[in-house]
Formats: sequence, structure tokens, C-alpha cells
Amino acid sequence: EITPMIFRQMMRNVGSVIVAEKDWLSELDGVIGDGDHGVTMEIGWIAVGKALDAAPKEETIEVTCKRMAKAFLDAVGASSGPLYATAFLRAGTAVGDRLNLDAAALASWIAAASQGIQDRGRAEPGDKTMVDAWVPAAVAAKAAAQSGASSIEVIEAATTGAKDGMEKTAHIAARRGRSAKLGERSLGHIDPGAASTYLTLRAMAEAL
Ligand code: ADP
Ligand code: MG
Ligand code: MG
Repeated sequence: EITPMIFRQMMRNVGSVIVAEKDWLSELDGVIGDGDHGVTMEIGWIAVGKALDAAPKEETIEVTCKRMAKAFLDAVGASSGPLYATAFLRAGTAVGDRLNLDAAALASWIAAASQGIQDRGRAEPGDKTMVDAWVPAAVAAKAAAQSGASSIEVIEAATTGAKDGMEKTAHIAARRGRSAKLGERSLGHIDPGAASTYLTLRAMAEAL
């Protein structure tokens, strides 16, 4: 069971990993985008960290997610800003007034984040965006939860799904976001947003 305190530790670890991998993310974005993805995600996750510092200890996961959404949206001007803000909002709503997350609720959190990103950005799987990592992560998490996996197993399954999805983005031509104008020339390069998705889920798993 993931308590609100453990949830906040998971989110803090995502922030640490994103900051540590910032240069890699910006390098990936330098190849097929404008080179700022590491910086935009760092700004967003530092803002999330400050929002977590300001959160009362007894705050529910739902309310914390809404706090994170506002922080991310206010801090990040890039395309990932509204996408992650919507992801956190929807994920929080999916959790509802539960105190702790069991494996099924964790899978719902991931699925709602993924759906939020799809609804906000209108990208489909295969467009070479973060959706290509979030969707397989959500599918793997749901499948794991339905087969009786623990929370740790659910987030590990999601991480594997995201990694696989991230690697596959190298084999598709971009159809959404800044890299879409490169089209076929984006082949051979992984999508930076898919890479940060993988890091996010991996960092959540590591914190458990
Ligand atoms: P920007 O492109 O504004 O500089 P970032 O560099 O922070 O923003 O983020 C780029 C990433 O955002 C891309 O690698 C891609 O994964 C993701 N992205 C862009 N547009 C969309 C969209 N419509 N839906 C989902 N993800 C998107
Ligand atoms: Mg960029
Ligand atoms: Mg930019």
C-alpha cells in the first residue's frame, strides 16, 4: 500500500532522477526538437518539489496531485507543461478520496495520467511522443494489477512497458510536436518525452 507519505517520496525521487538525467533529455531533444526538454522537465519537477514542501503532512494523494498539476502548469511554458498538468489532475481524480493506493489504484493512477496526456495533446500511439511510452506503461500496469501483482510489481511492469515504448519511438517518424516537421529525418532517434516518461516511472519504482 502506498501511503500519502510514500507517494510524496516517489514524486521527490522522480524530481531527483529528472534533474540527474537533464542533460540526456536535452541532448535527445537537441536532435529532433529544440533541445530544452531536460530544462523544461527540471523546471517543472523543481516546482513540484516546492509544492510538496508546502503541502500539509496529512494531505491526501488526490489533493497532492492537484497541487503538483498547478505547480507544473505555472512553471513550465513548453508543450510538456499542460500535458503533465493534465496528467496529474486526472491521476489525482482517479485516485479519489482513497487514503492509500493498492496495486489496482496505482494502475488506475498511471492509466489516468496516460489518458490525460492523450486527451490534452491529441497525440495517438505511433506519433512519436511521450504517449508511446505512457500507453504501454498503462496497459502493462493494468494487466499486472488484474493478475494480482503487488504495487511494486505494477510499477515495475509499467516501467518495462515505458522503456519498451521509448525504444520503439526510434523506429517511427514523428507526426506530433516540434519534431513532426522533421518527419522521416526523426527516424533512428528516440523521443525525449518518451525518455522522460520512462525515467519518471523508473524513479517511482525505485522509491518503493
Ligand atoms: P517543446 O517541444 O515545447 O520544447 P519539450 O521539449 O518540453 O517541449 O517536450 C517535448 C516532448 O513533448 C516531445 O518529445 C513529445 O514527447 C512531447 N509532446 C509534444 N507534443 C505532444 C503532444 N501533442 N502530445 C503528447 N506529447 C507531446
Ligand atoms: Mg523542447
Ligand atoms: Mg521548447
